[in-house]
Amino acid sequence: MERGMYIFLNKTIVPEQDAVVSVYDHGFLYGDGIYETMRAYNGVVFMLEKHLDRLARSASLTKLTLPETGFITDAVYRTIEANKLSDAYIRVTVSRGKGPIGLDPALCKEPTFVVVAEHFKEYPEHLYRDGVKLVIAKTRRNLAGAVNPKIKSLNFLNNIFAKMEAKERGAYEAIMLNAEGVLAEGTISNIFFVKDELLCTPAAEVGVLDGITREIVLNSAIKSGMRVSEGAFYPSDLFNASEVFFTNTTSEVMPVSQVELIAYHVGEVTKSLHALYKEEVAAYMKRYGKSD
Ligand code: PMP
Repeated sequence: MERGMYIFLNKTIVPEQDAVVSVYDHGFLYGDGIYETMRAYNGVVFMLEKHLDRLARSASLTKLTLPETGFITDAVYRTIEANKLSDAYIRVTVSRGKGPIGLDPALCKEPTFVVVAEHFKEYPEHLYRDGVKLVIAKTRRNLAGAVNPKIKSLNFLNNIFAKMEAKERGAYEAIMLNAEGVLAEGTISNIFFVKDELLCTPAAEVGVLDGITREIVLNSAIKSGMRVSEGAFYPSDLFNASEVFFTNTTSEVMPVSQVELIAYHVGEVTKSLHALYKEEVAAYMKRYGKSD
């Protein structure tokens, strides 16, 4: 958190020290809420409409009422402007709101709506050059019939447990398997690997968050003539891969140098898919960016 920041809280922008939420907020009491993470490049929020669509899906699956799309868009841009940001990390959080203790969402009259925006600090160059180490977590990904991974929920303990494992084992990110031992996803990322010139990633049905970066990378790969496969894969498939990388909004395409004891080179497919992703960002900015 940077000093002197401005936060959008409920209806308006307030200084960070005044951006406080009740201890009776069900987001705090029960993790009852949802969120989105976005990235702005030169003042343009990349794929804003897709993030808002996914927020709406999370809200619908959680039976949470969202403000109008126009209101959220406005809140996001006002927060960026209030903090005089250009390259920014943006988080929209919507919780069930303040209410008496008890699980019933009807106890909360109004959701709490927060937008935080901070300067986006690029990840160190060496991570992209050399790749990062991953481990396979013992913590399994939530079942779709429990807290559905499709919901970007504030109830994040599942992923936090896996992240703790990564940290304990000196890894950058942890890969979670689903209850059947099928590769699912990272704690905040989607996993890809290349095997015999085929680009593979766990299918949405395995129980993952269908990342926006994942979709862009898959489309770019298809457009560039690569064969892609969304399916049910196992750790052994990963161990036999020639390249591994993960994707998310902030990291874009992050090469992986090691999973457990298996080492990988940062390969040409990973590099070219990252370059194509950057082209998508540039095209989007050209389309939506300020013309001055
Ligand atoms: N999976 C999980 C669990 C995540 O939290 C994220 C980050 N939002 C992703 C995948 C990647 O999604 P995106 O590409 O939309 O950032």
